Amino acid sequence: IVRVDQIYKSFGSNQVLKGVSFEVAKGEMIAIIGASGSGKSTALRCIDRLETVDSGSIEVAGIRVDDPEVDLHKLRREVGIVFQSYNLFPHLNVQENVMLALRHVKLQSKSDAQKVALEALAQVGLAEKAGAYPEQLSGGQQQRVAIARSLAMAPKVMLFDEVTSALDPQLTGEVLRVMEDLAAGGMTMLLVTHEMGFAKRVADRIIYMHQGRVWEVGPGSMLDHPQTPELKTFLAADM
Ligand code: ATP
Ligand code: MG
Repeated sequence: IVRVDQIYKSFGSNQVLKGVSFEVAKGEMIAIIGASGSGKSTALRCIDRLETVDSGSIEVAGIRVDDPEVDLHKLRREVGIVFQSYNLFPHLNVQENVMLALRHVKLQSKSDAQKVALEALAQVGLAEKAGAYPEQLSGGQQQRVAIARSLAMAPKVMLFDEVTSALDPQLTGEVLRVMEDLAAGGMTMLLVTHEMGFAKRVADRIIYMHQGRVWEVGPGSMLDHPQTPELKTFLAADM
């Protein structure tokens, strides 16, 4: 459902992606790991067209993302993306935050949006917080609201960029559980993470990126048997 083919991307003279290719099948959960600066976020951002590629092609749910004429509204309906920072609106309660895009992008009626938002909040275990304001929630709960906000749009693919990096270990656990539930429910997911244990346990495949290239791809067990010295070094530094 996602096909990334030989994408290149530079920022000025800094070549960040050097021919990255991978595919994500429907229902698959893929974790991208790699050192800081290896191009993980840039690759994810290209898939949602928050960045444009210099060359190569990307197709998501039948949409050619690298087409200059791509319908961004259509793309954003099919692809949900969640970042490290949750960016909730402080003056709106939890349910209203989740409803926003349903109302303005999907043009749902208020009552429909309320219902869909509540269902999405229930999926992340926060239905009882619907009326709370973001500042009344823990970081982990706020991140789960951000996930619910994406889920409510019923995307075909969800992208997650280090969604637990700003959280302490206990809160990290609750967010990882939500993502594990999503994966178990068949959601197609591509996530950048530093949580090696989680990646190994939950991901169908792991992509190790190094210096703008896909360096190794394999099942979770590849972390026990790295084939390249670079992955070996990366994993050793993470211990
Ligand atoms: P991290 O683990 O630290 O998040 P990453 O693998 O996600 O790292 P990227 O954010 O993709 O790495 O960045 C790769 C390189 O691209 C870095 O050298 C970064 O400075 C550069 N870069 C990323 N975005 C931009 C931008 N908008 N303008 C200029 N350079 C950028
Ligand atoms: Mg990053």
